Amino acid sequence: MEVHVQPTTRSKMFCGCAVSQLGDPPNSRVCEICLGMPGTLPVINKAAVAACLKAALALNCEIPRHTKFDRKNYMYPDLPKGYQISQYDLPMSKNGFLELDGRRVRVRRVHLEEDTGKLIHAGDKLHKAWVSFVDLNRAGTPLMEIVSEPDLRSADEARDYAVALRTLLRTIGASEAEMEKGQLRAEPNISIRRAGSEELGVKTELKNINSFRALHRAILYEVVRQTEVLESGGTVVQETRGWSEAEGRTFSQRSKEFAEDYRYFPEPDLPPLEIDPAWVEELREALPELPGARRSRLISEYGIPSADAVLIAADRDLADLFEAAVAAGADAKPVANWIIGEVAPTGKIPTSEHLADLVKLVTSGSITRDQAQEVLVESVESGRSPSDIVAEHGFAQLSDESALMAEVEAVMEANPRAVEDYRAGKKQALGALMEELIKRAPQANRKIASDLLRRLLG
Ligand code: ZN
Ligand code: MN
Repeated sequence: MEVHVQPTTRSKMFCGCAVSQLGDPPNSRVCEICLGMPGTLPVINKAAVAACLKAALALNCEIPRHTKFDRKNYMYPDLPKGYQISQYDLPMSKNGFLELDGRRVRVRRVHLEEDTGKLIHAGDKLHKAWVSFVDLNRAGTPLMEIVSEPDLRSADEARDYAVALRTLLRTIGASEAEMEKGQLRAEPNISIRRAGSEELGVKTELKNINSFRALHRAILYEVVRQTEVLESGGTVVQETRGWSEAEGRTFSQRSKEFAEDYRYFPEPDLPPLEIDPAWVEELREALPELPGARRSRLISEYGIPSADAVLIAADRDLADLFEAAVAAGADAKPVANWIIGEVAPTGKIPTSEHLADLVKLVTSGSITRDQAQEVLVESVESGRSPSDIVAEHGFAQLSDESALMAEVEAVMEANPRAVEDYRAGKKQALGALMEELIKRAPQANRKIASDLLRRLLG
């Protein structure tokens, strides 16, 4: 898998242009350097080098002392210089790994390069008036290229790897890694082989993948396609294939016959880089706790199930929220449940104090789970504390015995069969009666109500 990730920097890779934001007018973030004018000279962006080294360290890579940039030559209208400054034989880092469900996915290298511009094809078919536009705002934007060894065995694993990579890069602050913004682009190389065979088959490379879901779908599609090609007696052609999200299929873009000879050679306008080992150590020491380590600590320190810890540690903000809410006095397990069940899926992120408050209201039986869901939404929207909201709405649960007693008696009267069944020894009839009770009185405190019911049933 090849993954291109945009490191978090203010300026471009080799010039002082600001990294372009969504909505910038076309060709407004350009200068003579990123436009590739003759006579201009690139300068290496130190923040991009630092981000790449941090990513490499978090991926357990070796950082060689010497590294250099190379020219990768090819002609395309989105590439103003006619070459991309990249790294060839002496990358910034190599031989790392990412731990995935206790298994190591080897990382061959993490290197730095620059992005290209963007082509926009427009026009109308009827009049055959086709026009192509070039926007070079993105040209020269820093990119880290992260290349794995062929250690991923399925679409699931490939997606999990990409997600884990995103989590890791966000955690260490090397990239925002938002796929929708094109800050993380995954290009899987797919090959299949017969069960038991060691030899990898001919591979195809997939492009135009814009989400983790698309990554998963594209790989599944390609595996089936290659299988069908081989089973019908054909051969898989080594090529680059595009993924069409709308059609749900891959299509041939470039085949090997036309594969470019990139004529790599050392970039003569940039000096080789000598990476100071003291700087590398500084960066290593400044790394925060990585997701894998945090997951283990969440399990051992808070006693939450490992499946919960995986989900929570995968998002630094959620993990911080979890620990802060527990520190604010709420029990760890229900806090984890609320984060996974409500906060993460709805995107309604409360403050840690408010989450702790909410969880305490539920665990003490003051409000029901259903009520708590409403309170959470309202708390996030208004910024008020769950306790205040509960007090104002009179949301408190029906815990008063005499009030509940009336409801319980009414339910027993309306369901004589179930009462008879229960008394005749069919204890499961209690569940049906409880259900009827909740329908009548949704605010009922479940525990007190079922105790009452049992008492009256004798
Ligand atoms: Zn520029
Ligand atoms: Mn690349």
